Amino acid sequence: MKSAIIVNPYSGGGRTESMWKQIRDEVHSRLGSLEELTTAAAADATRFATQVASTDCDLLIVAGGDGTINEVINGLFNENNQPINQNLKLGILSAGRGCDFIKSVNIPSNYREAVDLLINPIFKKVDVGCALFRDEFGREKKRFFLNIASAGLGGEVAKKVNHTPRFLPPQLAYFSSTALAFLSAKGQNLRISLDEKEIFDGQALNVFVANGSYSGAGMCWAPMAKLDDGLFDVIISEPIPKYQLLTSGYQLYDGTFTKLPGTQHHQAKTVLIESDDDVYLELDGEQPGVVPAAFSILPQAIEIAVGS
Ligand SMILES: [Mg+2]
Repeated sequence: MKSAIIVNPYSGGGRTESMWKQIRDEVHSRLGSLEELTTAAAADATRFATQVASTDCDLLIVAGGDGTINEVINGLFNENNQPINQNLKLGILSAGRGCDFIKSVNIPSNYREAVDLLINPIFKKVDVGCALFRDEFGREKKRFFLNIASAGLGGEVAKKVNHTPRFLPPQLAYFSSTALAFLSAKGQNLRISLDEKEIFDGQALNVFVANGSYSGAGMCWAPMAKLDDGLFDVIISEPIPKYQLLTSGYQLYDGTFTKLPGTQHHQAKTVLIESDDDVYLELDGEQPGVVPAAFSILPQAIEIAVGS
């Protein structure tokens, strides 16, 4: 097997760099032929992924956080949304701030155990999300995502978290940013269409377009989401009284979020979110633009080494 690894030493506030130092020799000796690519700037991981996908490499390992995984995914498809290399599979050594995607595929956060998993890998085909939207300059953009996209507060939270001090533990950084965003928010007018049928027109705090289940360092927004069913799970949060938010903080974590009043759950292959307000978009923890945003799903578009 021919393998390559993309290492983002900066992800997780430098955690990936120290992880990689500890396991580098072991990974090289256990995986055999392994090309190592180290990122130095934003979008390097995307460029490297395209480079690797253009060779006869069988396994591409990502060492980084959810943002790095997202960058890599964005380098693996061509403009027609087809994989550049049908045979290229993905492995993940996660050491970011959130480490949320790995929770949906049972990849251990202990990176030595994650390495073991790459030696005798079990692969699973998973869906990939595709989002069309506008960036801050109004230009049309396309980005792929693996985990969760959201519009509304999710975009605000992504902006806040990316500006919280790096010394804050990730759970605290996400929770404080989420709590602040929810408490200061009034909701925005959103129109949401699923599979070309409008199902919502009103005030919403947030809408999640979920492939995976978790974001925000362990917050479980879509416990029912399956990565290989060819469908997004769409969760709409309407504004609820602030006291209810304050007393239900634990419901962000325990898989009962969708039972909160004013929460709707749907499934769809395509999602369109529109608004006359400035509504921020969030994709896998990054904040790349605003709505209108159109989402489509690429069924079982990539194979990932998963935990049992
Ligand atoms: Mg699904």
